[in-house]
Amino acid sequence: MKSQTASGLESIERCVSMLSSQYGDPLLNNQRDPIDELALILLSDRTDEPKYLAAFQRLKRRFCQWEDLLATMPSDIEREIRDAGMGRRRAELLQQMLRAIYTRFGSLNLSALASMSADDAEAELVRLPSVGRKAARCVLLYCFDFPLLPVDVHTYRLAIRLGIMSRRVSYERSHSLLPPLIPAHLRRSFHVNAVAHGRARCFARNPHCSACPISDYCSHPSAVTPLPIELRPRPLAIDLFAGAGGLSLGLMKAGYRVVQAVEKDPQAAATYRHNHPGTDVIEDDIQKLDPISCLKRLGLRRGDVSVLVAGPPCQGFSESNRRTRTLANPRNHLYQEFLRFLDAMRPAWFVLENVAGLRTMARGKILREIIDRCRSLGYDADWKELNAGDYGVPQFRRRIFVVGNCLGLPIRFPDPTHGVAHKPYVTVLQAISDLPHLESGASVDYLSYGKNGRSLSGYQRAMRASANRDSGVQGNLVSRNNQLVLRRYSHIRPGQNWQAIPDDLLDNYKDSSRCHTGIYHRLEWRRPSKVIGNFRKNMLIHPEENRGLSVREAARLQSFPDNYVFLGSIGFQQQQVADSVPPLLAEAVARDIRDAERRVKSLCSPGCQMPRCQVMDRRKELPTARTSSIGFRCALDGK
Ligand code: SF4
Repeated sequence: MKSQTASGLESIERCVSMLSSQYGDPLLNNQRDPIDELALILLSDRTDEPKYLAAFQRLKRRFCQWEDLLATMPSDIEREIRDAGMGRRRAELLQQMLRAIYTRFGSLNLSALASMSADDAEAELVRLPSVGRKAARCVLLYCFDFPLLPVDVHTYRLAIRLGIMSRRVSYERSHSLLPPLIPAHLRRSFHVNAVAHGRARCFARNPHCSACPISDYCSHPSAVTPLPIELRPRPLAIDLFAGAGGLSLGLMKAGYRVVQAVEKDPQAAATYRHNHPGTDVIEDDIQKLDPISCLKRLGLRRGDVSVLVAGPPCQGFSESNRRTRTLANPRNHLYQEFLRFLDAMRPAWFVLENVAGLRTMARGKILREIIDRCRSLGYDADWKELNAGDYGVPQFRRRIFVVGNCLGLPIRFPDPTHGVAHKPYVTVLQAISDLPHLESGASVDYLSYGKNGRSLSGYQRAMRASANRDSGVQGNLVSRNNQLVLRRYSHIRPGQNWQAIPDDLLDNYKDSSRCHTGIYHRLEWRRPSKVIGNFRKNMLIHPEENRGLSVREAARLQSFPDNYVFLGSIGFQQQQVADSVPPLLAEAVARDIRDAERRVKSLCSPGCQMPRCQVMDRRKELPTARTSSIGFRCALDGK
């Protein structure tokens, strides 16, 4: 049989010490007299504590000595214990046990056990009727101070949850296997505090794990501490409010495997499914979903996911939204669903994305609340506003990213790769000039690439590479505008907006002064695009053609590769593109997280006992189905 490793022993000592501080080594009604202790244990079998204690007290009052009880009729004993729900059978068992002691030891006195070895004394006791190994050890521990470990259901359960013993060990076998794994000087404290812990919170079902002092060492799925994750070649991610899948695409490019996505909108879910056939897409309202059931669909457990990402609906936080930018808008509280999933799933990392307006919404109250709630769940969390243009996206798009982890690692955000002192920004010309020439109302989805006489930019080559074809591209759909709108377009030069439209063409705008600068904005070839919001409603105009942007042009400006297909009618496609997180921006954030994980992995050593660490893959050392986060050696390992 293997013994504990030194670090395992230290961990047991820490657990016992924490339990001892919490419960104070309770006496648990244990008796100093061995016959009293045996009688009490016999009465306690399948009887509630207050009842068997009352029955024991009545017997002690009625019979001055145990010899008196031995000499009486069973019906007299039965009368004293009936109120506790015990009957004739229990009375006879009590007498049988006392008679056997008398026969074996010559009197009702067990003091002879004190001069025996622990094994011999235990063997003597278990020969008595109704005395099992647990009862024998309780007598020897509490009455004779033998350093034995009585194994009851509480001790057994806790030993398994802490990974001291494999869950493959039966309760019967645990009587032999568990004691050698607990140091002799800790056995009494381990037992009494495990019983107190089992009665107070560590129940067989639905243990109360919040605020449990030893949750950091526990492998139970409800433990507050995240469980160790398996380091796979591609760590797992889940995407909430997945939309068309921009965040997921970035994660995948950074090396994650997105195993599940939640999206309520049927068109966006269809797009997601089409482009990510290997992902489990849950097309439902997230408010109706149970996070643990979502994990179970995948055969995963709490703590198995590396990254949880979410981009809750953000129009309500947008500074350009003057109608519903209030706390009264229920859609402005969907971030609570993300926090609910974070609490339940316990990923190592999380990423929450939203519009820059989140920073100022309710004077920053919402953003502060998100950070505070993440921290209260045990995550280090921080936020930063990132501009997609700084990461190679041909678009100035500012977004808030809240990033956190429960590994104790510092939170970093990706360094810009484009802009001042870096590579030049990717321009609209470099992004879309190779796409087909189109007109307002263009409706032929698949067309050959355009011929503009220029060689392809690096960005265009990258966008086409994934499509794996040079001949054509999908998504050449443009909204049809009426003649008035087309005449307005004709007055706007690159970089200008609605303010360039003559007044006589704006007379159906009730209050043109309330238009924001993004309305009727014509893109400039030599600069990154303005933010791709709702580009149909905002009338974002092609740099030189009098029409709005096609779905593919908008997708290119969002950094979606050409093989990414959007489904649904043109309006739905436009909305999906506009609502997406640019995959290149998502990839930059995800790569930073992946790099941080790799750095820690390279520092991990087999003896590391960092209590909250999820990175170390202890399952390779410990082949049991589930091991505790401190990696105790299992008694059956290697057998
Ligand atoms: S975390 Fe929960 S299951 Fe684990 S020891 Fe504490 S109460 Fe028991």
